[in-house]
Amino acid sequence: MTRKRILIAGAGSAGTMMANHLKRKVNLHEWQITIVDAATTHYYQPGFLFLPFGIYDEAEIQKPIIKYIPDEVEFINTGIDKIDAERNVVILINGAELFYDILIIASGCNIAPEETEGMKGKLWQKNVFDFYTFEGAKALHDKLQGWEGGKLAIHITEMPIKCPVAPLEFAFLADDFFRHKHMRDEVEITYITPLSGAFTKPFAAKKLAHLIEEKNIKLVTDFNVERIDNETKKIIDYGGQEVEFDLLVTVPLNKGAAFIERSGFGDDLNYVPTNKFTLQTTVKDNIFAIGDATSLPASKAGSVAHFESEILTENILHYIKGEELKAHFDGHANCFIETGNHKALLIDFNYDQEPVDGTFPFAGIGPMSLMEETMLNHMGKLGFKWIYWNVLMHGRAIPFIHPGMQKSGKHIVPAE
Ligand SMILES: Cc1cc2nc3c(=O)[nH]c(=O)nc-3n(C[C@H](O)[C@H](O)[C@H](O)COP(=O)(O)OP(=O)(O)OC[C@H]3O[C@@H](n4cnc5c(N)ncnc54)[C@H](O)[C@@H]3O)c2cc1C
Repeated sequence: MTRKRILIAGAGSAGTMMANHLKRKVNLHEWQITIVDAATTHYYQPGFLFLPFGIYDEAEIQKPIIKYIPDEVEFINTGIDKIDAERNVVILINGAELFYDILIIASGCNIAPEETEGMKGKLWQKNVFDFYTFEGAKALHDKLQGWEGGKLAIHITEMPIKCPVAPLEFAFLADDFFRHKHMRDEVEITYITPLSGAFTKPFAAKKLAHLIEEKNIKLVTDFNVERIDNETKKIIDYGGQEVEFDLLVTVPLNKGAAFIERSGFGDDLNYVPTNKFTLQTTVKDNIFAIGDATSLPASKAGSVAHFESEILTENILHYIKGEELKAHFDGHANCFIETGNHKALLIDFNYDQEPVDGTFPFAGIGPMSLMEETMLNHMGKLGFKWIYWNVLMHGRAIPFIHPGMQKSGKHIVPAE
């Protein structure tokens, strides 16, 4: 009997978790699971934040993709050219066609520095760096080793970006790094954001504004970059604001995969229009999407992809049985924010609930504190790497952590 096919496009965090969940849940006599990825290396992307400062080394944040693909799942190591949704076919760059019955798009998003004038100019990877790619983080590490100080500008081009707090964490870690090198006085740190503040959710803005001040970080808000002038080393916005830099660490525009555009169904930034509760796309009933590839108004984060993978697995099973897609994702995100000095904050929120303080995962007991800088949270952030490789990438659940956000333990102030 020919098996039907579930095709997963992308074997990063979300695709790998889906392959591992589904191989346990679907009848493999009836269903073949195939996963396609152009890459051979799986990066632990949260590690890109630590690599420039020498906190992690290159080896611990990369593994072969194949190591996490279960034997029961077919892995095809090729790029996807486009999806023909009409014919239920994925066309590979070598021209081969893969038919599917169910398609899960898990192709993530990536930086597009070429979209900003001057970003990839002659200063790229000399004075202008990203840390959102392995190559960028590695080059920045080498630069920081010998840098003698000056004006360090940390910049976000446009939202949304993956891990929206990562640039702020970079600023906090940079403060710490230069303090330990006894050269903090020689470095002027400026944080440049297109948003109206470093923290935009009202409670976080009130509770955490002091961090920027304490660390002597200059804040430039509402900055919509027009271009980077490679001659004068200035970053310039549409309103004429200018910030000088000796070293610019930028988060370039983030975009979904180019094949989404070629397939004719992405939004302006190539994100796949997706139902924010069921994770079914609006492209066609048999196409689902997960992780950074979606248009969801949730954070683009590994923790979100993890919660979504549990919801999507349930909904794929409902879809196979011809049932209503009953599992609903609530936008749950759970992020540690490094603040330097071996401390971190923890935030836990969803589509409706902004981050507030309290304890996590157990009410009153914790052991983690929400919105408080603690060493335990920092250990949680570092410990997450182990959990990622050894628990999440095998499609296993983290005990006591649920896909839906828990209200217990949170000090939620009722709306007036
Ligand atoms: C600096 C940084 C720090 C971060 N910190 C955190 C954190 O602290 N906590 C947290 O939860 N998250 C964090 N994240 C975000 C997290 O890493 C991502 O949200 C997560 O990896 C998304 O998973 P994904 O599967 O959607 O995308 P990815 O893991 O990026 O996987 C996408 C896959 O699709 C493949 N692909 C794309 N196009 C094609 C094509 N044409 N053909 C074939 N294959 C293709 C790619 O090769 C890739 O393997 C961070 C990210 C960065 C960059």
